[in-house]
Amino acid sequence: MSKKIVLLPGDGIGPEIVAEAKKVLEAVDAKFKLGLKFEEDLIGGCAIDVHGVPLAQSTLDRCKAADAVLMGSVGGPKWDALDSNIRPEKGLLKIRYEMGLYANLRPAILYPQLADASSLKPEIVSGLDILIVRELTGGIYFGEPRGIRLLDNGERQGYNTYVYAEHEIERIGRTAFEMAMKRDKKVCSVDKANVLEATVLWREVIQSISKDYPEVELSHMYVDNAAMQLVRAPKQFDVVVTGNMFGDILSDTAAMLTGSIGMLPSASLNQDSKGLYEPVHGSAPDIAGQGIANPLATILSAAMMLRYSLNEAAAADAIEAAVGAVLDDGLRSADIFSEGMKKVSTQEMGDAVAAKI
Ligand code: NAD
Repeated sequence: MSKKIVLLPGDGIGPEIVAEAKKVLEAVDAKFKLGLKFEEDLIGGCAIDVHGVPLAQSTLDRCKAADAVLMGSVGGPKWDALDSNIRPEKGLLKIRYEMGLYANLRPAILYPQLADASSLKPEIVSGLDILIVRELTGGIYFGEPRGIRLLDNGERQGYNTYVYAEHEIERIGRTAFEMAMKRDKKVCSVDKANVLEATVLWREVIQSISKDYPEVELSHMYVDNAAMQLVRAPKQFDVVVTGNMFGDILSDTAAMLTGSIGMLPSASLNQDSKGLYEPVHGSAPDIAGQGIANPLATILSAAMMLRYSLNEAAAADAIEAAVGAVLDDGLRSADIFSEGMKKVSTQEMGDAVAAKI
C-alpha cells in the first residue's frame, strides 16, 4: 500500500534541505519497499507570492489527506513588512492548528562526534539525550482575547490570554508519559504555578494522569529554574513536558546544548499520529542559495516521520545510523565544521547519507 507524503519546502534554505531529505527517503524507500509517494506544495512566503496567503486551502486539504507532511522552513526578510495576518509564520500556525498537531516532540541529542560543537563543557553535555514535549495548539499563542487596544487615557495596551483546558493538558501529558515509558521513565513537567493560575491547573492535571503511569517518575519545575537547570545540568532530564510558550523557549535552549541547530529534528503529531515533521531551525536567509546549509536536521525529521507516522522503525533506524556513519567519516557541513574534518556542501551531505543507506 502506498504512503502519501506532502513535501512543503518553504522559503530560504527550505528547498535545499528538503531536496536532500527526499533523496534519503527515496533511498530507504528502495531498500525497505515502503511505497512512498511524494507530492510537493507551497507554504510560507513562497505561497504568499503565488496565492496571496501563506497556506492555501488546497494545500491544507492535500496535507490533511496525506499520511505525513515534511516541511523545510518558512519566512524571510522579503515578507517581514507584511501585515501580521498574512506573514509566512501564520501559515505554519494555521497548519498546526487545522491538523490538530498538539504534540511537538523535540529531541535534543548530542552526537558523540560533535561534543566539541556545544557551547557547554563536554562533560556536562556528552551523552545528552532529552526529549522536550511541547504543547503546540493552545496556551498564550492561541488564547483569546488578544490584541492591542486603546485605553481611556489614550495609551495603547497590548494583551494576550494564557488559557489551557483540562483536555488539552491531559492529552499532551499522556504523550509525555507514553514517550517516557519508551525511554528512561522520567517526566519533568515545567510550569509557573507560583504565579499563573492556568499552570496551577496544568500541574494538577499532570499529577492526576501520572497515576496511570506508576513506573514513570514525575517531577515539577518552575520555568525559570528549568531554564537554569538546562544549562547547568541538562542530563538530569529525560522527558520535559510543558506549554506552548515555555516549550518554544526551552526547546531552543536545549537545541543549542547540542552545538548546532542544524542537527535538530522535530515532529508535531495529532491524536491519530498523523504529523508534520520539520527541522527546529528557521529558513536561514543569511545562507540561503549558497549550498552550505546543514540538511541533517531535515533528514533526521524524515526519520522521525517514518517512526511516528508511518510505523517504519527499521527504515528510521537506517537513516539515523547513516547520519552517524557520515559523521564518523568526518563529513561536516559548515555549521558543524572543525579542524581536521572534511567540509561538505548541502548536496554532498545528502548524497553521503543516501549512499550509506
Ligand atoms: P534561523 O534558524 O533561520 O537561523 C539562525 C542561525 O542559524 C543563522 O545564522 C542560520 O544561518 C543558522 N542556521 C539555521 N539553520 C541552519 C542549517 N540548517 N545549517 C546551517 N546553519 C543554519 O533563525 P532566524 O535567523 O531567527 O530566522 C530566520 C527566518 O526563519 C525568519 O523569517 C524566521 O521567522 C523564520 N523561522 C522559521 C521557522 C520555521 O519555519 N519553523 C523557525 C524559526 C524561524
